[in-house]
Amino acid sequence: MQKKKINQILIGSNNKGKVREIQQLLPKTIKIISVKDFKIKSPKENGKSFLENSLIKAKYFSKKTGMICLSDDSGLEIDILKKKPGIFSSRWGGKKGNFNIAIKKVFRKLNLVDTNWKEKKIKARFICALTIYGPQIKTVQTLAKIEGSISKIKKGKNGFGYDPIFIPNGKKITFGQMNPTMKFKIDHRSKAFKKIKKFL
Ligand code: IMP
Repeated sequence: MQKKKINQILIGSNNKGKVREIQQLLPKTIKIISVKDFKIKSPKENGKSFLENSLIKAKYFSKKTGMICLSDDSGLEIDILKKKPGIFSSRWGGKKGNFNIAIKKVFRKLNLVDTNWKEKKIKARFICALTIYGPQIKTVQTLAKIEGSISKIKKGKNGFGYDPIFIPNGKKITFGQMNPTMKFKIDHRSKAFKKIKKFL
């Protein structure tokens, strides 16, 4: 457990949507600062796991600013694709982060591995890793998952990324078809934040 109370935290991400979502998940007593205010470019995510990449980001932004920083790294693992796209989830969308392209790539890869994949349950999970790193505090990391499967076709217009093809276990609809409140109740990101809250 941290000894020092954290009053303000830098969110180590240049992604506006992510910063907004993180803001909603953190206690209101903590002042949120965005890296956008410092005009710092994001570092290369060259780690081998979600945890490593979230540490790379938190360390980098903290060292650049001298502040306590919270960073996340997340993605989708598909078992029969040897856990890909995994840490490459955003990169499958190309330079512009086009998720139609990323989803097409998933379907293309599934067809290559098993032409009959639509008849089977294609096990997958979303993962979210969080790291808090800063001067005079103990580094904290959490990891959370939500298990599910890949939909035969894209369904729903809510959310982002791979949401239209991910069906969480126990539900019949994709994250893309769910209203955001329902998704946030069960998803990997909110689970990871619940775990890290006790350190703040
Ligand atoms: P990051 O910014 O490196 O953490 O990239 C995360 C990527 O994983 C996103 O760009 C999406 O492709 C994917 N991803 C992570 N979480 C979700 C989610 O909740 N829904 C859909 N896609 C997600």
